Amino acid sequence: MTPSPALRRRTTQILAILKRTYPEAHCALHFTTPLELLIATILSAQCTDERVNQVTPALFARCPDATSLAAISQNELEKIIHSTGFYRAKARSLRSCAASLVANHQGKVPRTMEALHKLAGVGRKTANVVLGNAFGLAEGVVVDTHVGRLSRRMGLTRHLDPVKVESALVRLIPKEDWTLVSHLLIAHGRKRCMARNPNCAQCELKKLCPQRGV
Ligand code: SF4
Repeated sequence: MTPSPALRRRTTQILAILKRTYPEAHCALHFTTPLELLIATILSAQCTDERVNQVTPALFARCPDATSLAAISQNELEKIIHSTGFYRAKARSLRSCAASLVANHQGKVPRTMEALHKLAGVGRKTANVVLGNAFGLAEGVVVDTHVGRLSRRMGLTRHLDPVKVESALVRLIPKEDWTLVSHLLIAHGRKRCMARNPNCAQCELKKLCPQRGV
């Protein structure tokens, strides 16, 4: 559905305020290469970015490339990533993903949604994180629980399904802001619009936000 002009105007104002409020908003996962970001994002499922950042230095030192990650034993990898939760499944995904990178992409991370999506453990959200933050390619908007919650509260969408939330956001937000908007919403979700007890009274967006479901 095409968004109304009023909703477009309101979204533009919300974006402007969020940019002013969070000028430092950026990807919270630590990485220096596309492969490191891909690994960190797979590990971040059901885990905080802070916890992932504690684990990845040792992992990146032990497995500096896709070849070494594909070759590490399941047991050793599970021990390194244990504290991120779901470590057995994550270790399987990481090893399998690395093996595909070696077999099909010369050990490099591909730069398309289609190729990323075929890798083990990589869904649309992970692919969007990597494309937007490692390659500067805006294919879509990363929708995690924070982005979904804030988008609904602000009346940008009514959908619960992350794919439908993303679809609503890409219609409302200029392409050059697709990567940034999720960092802005996550920052605002941490500071003001928490899952429980959002601080609407002091919120920078209170005049623009319908506070749906709050
Ligand atoms: S006004 Fe309340 S619901 Fe709306 S963004 Fe701010 S904290 Fe969240």
